[in-house]
Amino acid sequence: MRFSKTFIPTLKETPGDAVIPSHILMIRAGLTRMLSAGIYSFLPIGYKLIRKISEVIREEMNAIGGQEFHLPALNPKEIWQETGRVEAFGDTLFHIKNRDYVLAPTHEEIMAFHAKGNLKSYKDLPQIWYQIQTKFRNEPRPRSGVIRGRQFLMKDAYSFDVDYEGLDKSYEAHDKAYRKIFDRCGLKYFVVGASSGAMGGSKSEEFMLKSDAGEDTVAYCSKCGYAANVEVATSIIEPIKRDEISKEIYEISTPNVKSIDELCGFLKIDDTQCAKSRIYIHNNDTPVLILMQGNEEVNENKLLSFLGGTVRPGHPEELKEITGADAGSIGPIKIGLRIIADLKLKDRNNLFSGANKNDFHIGGIDLVRDVKNIEYADLRFAKSGEKCIRCQNELEVFKAIELGHIFKLGTKYSDALGVRYLDEHGKDHPIVMGSYGIGVERILACFIEQNYDEKGILWNEHLTPFDLHLVGLNMKNNEVSNIAEKIFDELTKKGYEILFDDRIDETAGVKFNDADLIGIPIQIIVGEKNLKENSIEIKFRKTGERYKVKIDELENKIKEIIK
Ligand code: ATP
Ligand code: MG
Repeated sequence: MRFSKTFIPTLKETPGDAVIPSHILMIRAGLTRMLSAGIYSFLPIGYKLIRKISEVIREEMNAIGGQEFHLPALNPKEIWQETGRVEAFGDTLFHIKNRDYVLAPTHEEIMAFHAKGNLKSYKDLPQIWYQIQTKFRNEPRPRSGVIRGRQFLMKDAYSFDVDYEGLDKSYEAHDKAYRKIFDRCGLKYFVVGASSGAMGGSKSEEFMLKSDAGEDTVAYCSKCGYAANVEVATSIIEPIKRDEISKEIYEISTPNVKSIDELCGFLKIDDTQCAKSRIYIHNNDTPVLILMQGNEEVNENKLLSFLGGTVRPGHPEELKEITGADAGSIGPIKIGLRIIADLKLKDRNNLFSGANKNDFHIGGIDLVRDVKNIEYADLRFAKSGEKCIRCQNELEVFKAIELGHIFKLGTKYSDALGVRYLDEHGKDHPIVMGSYGIGVERILACFIEQNYDEKGILWNEHLTPFDLHLVGLNMKNNEVSNIAEKIFDELTKKGYEILFDDRIDETAGVKFNDADLIGIPIQIIVGEKNLKENSIEIKFRKTGERYKVKIDELENKIKEIIK
């Protein structure tokens, strides 16, 4: 491809609204441009990369028997109402004004619609249907460029099986295909068992990439590979021993002391000696008291798993009515509620907590002696430096971006939409479904997050828009332009994909900077000086190493390098 005839609007400056490296570099290297918040256009080089990634996905999906579909993005709202997902998506769902349509944020409903009545018999199953198609989500905070767009490309796949055993097989096939896809794209990723909380206990795994730009927080063990979203992650809890002697309970006047920090400052104690009290409302009618060590927060997801049903924090107005005190003065003594304490507080004594009376606290609390029927559960967040529950190695807690998600749906959509098949005895059953998504632009942006330097992007053998970047330095010089044209011609005929900087009016400096910014791994530089020795130069973008090569050895050299 000729630079002079291709739209590659490179920029020297960092665009104002871009913060993370991939966002900055995709704009600076002329891959994308923003149309409006969370809405991006892909320019020729950017779209070339999207097509390459899509092709890798397509090959691996076809290899597990996937059949490619193309479904409409414009969907009748009715079908989304049937599955209850107009409410479930809430404001994230785009609605078409004056018409009962929505813009599809995913396609479970529509695939299920086509399966219904068409996959009639066990003989028609299993099936894997997928597409690579645009999705619409009104993300409340679109940011990080294409990593969180309001319109984005997703590879979404759906499996249809006769039973859960079949689903297990389809799920395993996708798991393997996903690993191949991300490996082939050269991404360093890890797999996390995701929270199944609100979705009803089906198995689900997320493919994640470590990045400060991520919006998920995960705990990860580099030794054994244990990885979990902090919503569910556990770590080894180092028990704190009881003091040998339990003090008597005593009340302390603590005027205007509201927070744990204020209490620690006022009493000159450590926050690990405090039992922080929080009121939650279980199933909308039953208050429960949650006790955490002073420096720990309630992990609401773990609390929900422990209690089941629904759980919400008590509103400030409710607290006084339930406990007799405002937040900050609540505690476990004489409260008459179900009490659940985090395991870090197990059997502890000489603790401080609220007195259920504003401006008073209680010291000398012994949870064994003073709080009957107390229950214990793991209710905290795992932290960096704590020990892995599997191998005792140190855990790391960090931000991560979700690249893909595989999910055992079961019969949720088949039940809602009546998607059923007949078995060999003529009895009918719901079809068992799985759903599997990958963000195509996220693969591209995440690759850049992991491969760049101060000069620009660093493509490699896994992913690059072109094999070679050919730079003709002074194209006004006939010898330079003749040789450069000849190399372009011959290597193109040999099957190499080349970006040929044939621009006549740009300086060598501009061409070098653009080549480094765009980041194709191998640069071939044709200049007057080297031509005098019948040589040209090969430069490796990543290391900056340069080699002189005789012109007639170029092709062999390139073959050797690319091998
Ligand atoms: P996230 O938690 O990041 O919002 P999600 O759980 O909503 O992701 P899924 O509904 O499972 O994502 O969608 C499948 C895949 O689509 C994700 O793994 C991700 O790679 C991609 N994806 C989801 N939302 C967006 C978005 N707003 N912009 C770009 N890609 C997205
Ligand atoms: Mg989302």
